[in-house]
Amino acid sequence: MISEEEARRKILEMVHPLPARQLSISKSLDFFAAEDHFGRLPLPNFDNSAMDGYAVVANSCKKGQRLRVIGEQPAGFDRKLRVSSGEAVRIFTGATMPAGADAVVMQEDVTRDSDEIVINTDVEAGEFIRQRGCDLAEGQRILAKGERIRAATSALLASQGFTEATVGGEVNAAIISTGDELVKPGKKIKVGQIYDSNSPLLGALLQRCRAIVKSVEHCRDERESLIEAMKRGIKSRILIISGGVSVGEHDLVKAALRDLGAQIDIWRVAIKPGKPFLFGHVEKSGPSPQSSPSARERRTRSAGEGSVLASECLVFGVPGNPVSAFVTFLQFVRPAILKMMGATDLDLLQMPAKLTVDLTNDSDRAHYIRGKLEHGRFTPVGRQESHALFGLSQSNALLRLGIGQSLKADEIVEVQICD
Ligand code: AMP
Ligand code: MG
Repeated sequence: MISEEEARRKILEMVHPLPARQLSISKSLDFFAAEDHFGRLPLPNFDNSAMDGYAVVANSCKKGQRLRVIGEQPAGFDRKLRVSSGEAVRIFTGATMPAGADAVVMQEDVTRDSDEIVINTDVEAGEFIRQRGCDLAEGQRILAKGERIRAATSALLASQGFTEATVGGEVNAAIISTGDELVKPGKKIKVGQIYDSNSPLLGALLQRCRAIVKSVEHCRDERESLIEAMKRGIKSRILIISGGVSVGEHDLVKAALRDLGAQIDIWRVAIKPGKPFLFGHVEKSGPSPQSSPSARERRTRSAGEGSVLASECLVFGVPGNPVSAFVTFLQFVRPAILKMMGATDLDLLQMPAKLTVDLTNDSDRAHYIRGKLEHGRFTPVGRQESHALFGLSQSNALLRLGIGQSLKADEIVEVQICD
């Protein structure tokens, strides 16, 4: 058994960002920039009005002043009007400022009297004008390499005339749920059987990371069937196998992977829940013929010892208990996927919270407590056992208790947001 930190370090050392690609802005949400992106225009690109009102010369406006309205400037094109003292131009939000004007008076602050207005307020230079470049300077960095593209990022890219962003690669994934007891939801269930809930769980977690779920298979605890299912699954960039990684006679995943020529890099990690977690890698095309260079030779030539090659599939074996599958996915699978996609920040969002109860971890593994973060307070939810799916469904955060760690109620702790 290795420590959780060592397992994560080992996995992250072995996986590498996939090649970058161009992706249309409308499809790039939640992918990661593969390079810095720089603004092409200042924002705003020209001085314009922040209000519907009148463009004026501020120092010619006192409260009660009458001004002659000499024209109208709507948004969309520049009528090239010029405002002098004693004059005003009717203007609308987003319209270019006419030459000579240095302020806008809101229409609510004037009284219109045919082609004149009376100003009912004091006016200061610069008022209600959005200055060119006040939000964003030309050439400023708008998206850093490794940063996630959010809704507002898409808008910012579009505001600069971008139609595409350069983003990191796409990770496609296969899921195999193992277990003789599993039945697909929708079918009749008999005593001793359970519905397969890990397939939808893993599928949802993969979707959250923007990985593409290529296939979802159920497989019985039978070595030959497992090998056949794995042969199909390893065609994807990553394969996640649920169940069958423990130490029972029906836990055949490790043996089947070895039959396929996989290298098992990690098996059993000091994490609770999730101890039987497995990580390995295997040639996508299966064992290579004797005559071709071995993966080890090719690795030494290209990516270096201890790296996963493009021709290899990463295999994650998560324990069948739903909470174990959830926790090990978030701690080990998610960061690996994000690294492949070119993300800089591989961690779940962390937030400080006031603990509402005393907690102690007297096990020999780091314990992830499932709980609810609400109004800055964290409370454990439901049974803290690896099968307790209902409790998990009611929680939105994880608290990591290190080996031997004790915490007291009212202490401020850092929790991981997992919803
Ligand atoms: P295993 O890791 O295969 O030893 O399974 C551990 C526990 O998780 C057992 O109680 C299984 O019935 C349960 N389990 C395994 N696979 C799934 C699944 N796909 N959905 C829900 N529970 C599962
Ligand atoms: Mg099983």
